[in-house]
Amino acid sequence: MPPRLKPAPKLAEQFYSSPQWRTLIKQIKQERGNWCEICGSTSRVIGDHIKERKDGGAPLDPANIQLLCITHHNIKTARERSHRALGQT
Ligand SMILES: [Zn+2]
Repeated sequence: MPPRLKPAPKLAEQFYSSPQWRTLIKQIKQERGNWCEICGSTSRVIGDHIKERKDGGAPLDPANIQLLCITHHNIKTARERSHRALGQT
C-alpha cells in the first residue's frame, strides 16, 4: 500500500470555529461595525489577527484583532506567507 499523505492538522481552523473566538468577533462587529477596516466592504467580513498567533500575537485580545473583508484578508495572508518564505519575518 502506498503511504497516504495526510494534511497537517488544521489547528488554526479549530481555533477559528471555537465559541470564544466567535463570541469575541460578534462583540467586535457590534462595537466597530460589520465592515472591512481597510476598504469598508460589508461583504464577508471576518476577524483577523493583526499579529498572528504563531508570531506571538494574543489570540483573544480585541486590540490584536481587526475586521477584514475576505479580499483584504487574503492579501494580508499572502503577503505574510511570502515574507515568511523570504525570511523577512
Ligand atoms: Zn477590504
